[in-house]
Formats: sequence, structure tokens, C-alpha cells
Amino acid sequence: MINPERKQPKISPKLSLVTLAISVFLSQAAMANTQVIHAGELLSVPGKAPLKNHTVVIDDGAIIAVKKGFIPATTFASDATLIDLSKSFVMPGLMDMHVHLQMELGPDNTADTVKLSDADVAMKSVHYAKTTLMSGFTTVRDLLSEPEQMYALRDGVEKGWIDGPRIIAAAGISITGGHLDADGMAPDLLAMKSSKMLCDGPFECRKMTRKAIKYGADAIKVASTGGVLSNTDTGTGQQMTNNELKEIVETAHSLGRKVASHAHAAEGINAALRAGVDSIEHGSYSDKESIKLFKKTGAYLVPTLLAGATVVEMANTSDFMPAPVKAKAIRVGADMLNNFTTSYKAGVKIAFGTDSGVSKHGLNAEEAVLMYQAGMSTADILKSATVNGADLIGMSDKLGTIEVGKYADIIATDSSPLNDIKQLLDVDFVMKGGKVYKQNF
Ligand SMILES: [Zn+2]
Repeated sequence: MINPERKQPKISPKLSLVTLAISVFLSQAAMANTQVIHAGELLSVPGKAPLKNHTVVIDDGAIIAVKKGFIPATTFASDATLIDLSKSFVMPGLMDMHVHLQMELGPDNTADTVKLSDADVAMKSVHYAKTTLMSGFTTVRDLLSEPEQMYALRDGVEKGWIDGPRIIAAAGISITGGHLDADGMAPDLLAMKSSKMLCDGPFECRKMTRKAIKYGADAIKVASTGGVLSNTDTGTGQQMTNNELKEIVETAHSLGRKVASHAHAAEGINAALRAGVDSIEHGSYSDKESIKLFKKTGAYLVPTLLAGATVVEMANTSDFMPAPVKAKAIRVGADMLNNFTTSYKAGVKIAFGTDSGVSKHGLNAEEAVLMYQAGMSTADILKSATVNGADLIGMSDKLGTIEVGKYADIIATDSSPLNDIKQLLDVDFVMKGGKVYKQNF
């Protein structure tokens, strides 16, 4: 889990000489960390109108003030650093609720499963994490990777050893032969590579959920239906049973973890929503009942339009996909888009998510362009990628807006993505937790 922010100690009025010396040292250290941003346009709270000419004050990685006008940096601390974004559009860091930081889809994927060591995979994920952060995404939810390496990546980023976004790392729990189980290999290799988190029946699913959390999962991912990229002709209908889903959700929630369900067909979407999942990933074939259930439960739809567009293109222009995958890709990719428009118009809550890893890392913002083309307003897109993401992972108190008390996760673009969504494809400034990772001005 992401550690809560460390607080500066309070200075008591009665201090011994030693504690006084320590306090002076600490307050100087705090002062040295003061940064002041002059924002030409500031989208402090996505969903509300942007503010003109504002000053954001950051101390020790957190936002401590947001004020009208351009106030000189030295007003806040004699050695404060001024970051001049007075000609830019400034907003909270983007959040992607569906990525796979250990892979990128391509012809070598099957060979890689036997050629690459765990260490190789971990190194790849370090590279993809940095690419993601540099494109303006300061928080991601990884929805299925090799768990140990992913937890190590998450913790390495959190400690500041590795440049990457904040990572909410989910463990994928699958039924035997389900979408999150390994497939498409010789039986002896398959036995070795089979998912470590398989469960069949509610009792096993309860135990596996507890186990996943014991070993470090921040969230649980399940697949209530088949998937496009599983190399079996099992379709996209419901796979995990109602009682398996219910048991996983109840167990995860009782241990303070959210549950995301991959789901394409309506019966699987509805079963997962009835079981109480917090988000539906893809949601390609929602029906009227699904929309009702989304609204009743308050679950989010994470549309992953970019994954749909990517697999359609790959199916049409390359020949590495096995026949069942190719057929599913072409069918589901297009349907995903129509479903998104219907769900958005019906008022289903949307959280931004790309399934990056299917598409290339660092191109995450292309999802925003697809959402716009499918009829979503720019204001709602920006909200889905900030405020809604923070809500979905239960971190609204720390992430999603530029307000006092939040982590200083801040990005900037040349001009307003509210007027031109493509601005998100070219993020020029990236700050996470008060540290500047990119400044192209
Ligand atoms: Zn995925």
C-alpha cells in the first residue's frame, strides 16, 4: 500500500535546547522544499471551471496553499523555488485505472514467456513505468502482472528509487482455464506458467483472496467473463460463477480492498455488479439491466477504448494472433465503442483506463481522444482521469485535485485540453509528490 504522507513534527512551546536545535533543522529542511507554481490557467478541481492566474504552494511534496494572483515565491519561504507555468494550463496528474506495466502486446509475447526471466520482466516494467510517468500519468492501477515483481516495482517507486507513477497493484484471481489463467502453451510449460492465483468454488476463492492480500495486493482483479486475448475459443460469456464472485468481493471488501472485474458479455457484467464489484473493465456488451445496476451500485465503468482500437488494428494488419483471438478482437473492439457511448449518455460513472500493455505504454492519453470521438465532453474526460480515478481507488483525500492537503501531483500543457483534448498527448510538465520529473518549457 502507498504509505500515508509523513507529517512534520509539531513544535511544542516548551523546548529543550536539543529539541530546539532539531526543530530548527527540520523547519529549514521544510523551507528548502517549498515550491511555488504560477499557473496561467489552473484546473484545480476537474469538473469545475478552470481559474486564471493562480499560485500553488507546495511544501514537502504536498499542496499547502492555492491562492489568487501570482504571489512572489519568497513570500512563502526565503529560498522557495518558483516554477513559472504562467503561460500554461495546469491540472492534477492523470490517473489510468487499467494498465499492465510488465508487457506490451506483440508477436514476441508467447516466446517471451519462456525466454525472459523474472528479473528481465521486472526491468521491462521499470522502463514502462518511467515512460508512463513522463507522459503525464502520475497514478496507475496495474490490473494483472507477475505479483512479486509488481509489488517490488510499486515499493521501489514509493521509496523514490525508480521513476514511475504511484502504482495500485492488483492481484488477478482466476478460475482454472479462465481469462486470467495462462494458455496457448505445451501442457508441461502450461503447468509451470499457470497462474499462481487460481480458485474454483467459493471456498477456494475466499482463501485465494485472503492469500493475495497477505502477499501484498492493493486490489483484486477478477474476470467474470472470457476475454479477447485468451488463446482459447471460450468466447466472452460469463465464466466465474455468481457465488465465486460474491465470495471474492465480500472477502476483499472485509480486508479493505476494492475489486475490479474484467467483463464483456452482459450476463458477466451484471453478475459482477450484483456481487458488488467496484469497477467493470471493458464492459463491452452492457444491457439495460447493466446500466440500472451500475447506477444502483455506484460502480465505475473503465472503458479501455484504446485496447479495443489497438486489437482491431493488430488483427487487421498483422498475423501473430491465433484465429480465436483474431475473431474476438475484430468483433469486440468495435462493440466496446458503441457500449461506451450508450453508458456515458445513460449517466454511468466513468473512470479513465486504457489497458496499456495491450497498446504501447506512454500513449495512454490516446484514450482521451477516443472518448472525445465517442461523444464524451472534454470536462468529463479530464474528471474521469483525475477525480473519478481517485474515488475508484479510495484516495480522494490525497489525489485527483489541486487542493490543500493533497499530494502535489501536477501536470501542465501548452494550452487547455478543455478546448482541444489532443493537448493531453503532449504534456510538458510532470510533478509527482512535489518532485519535478519533466519540464519542457
Ligand atoms: Zn487488462
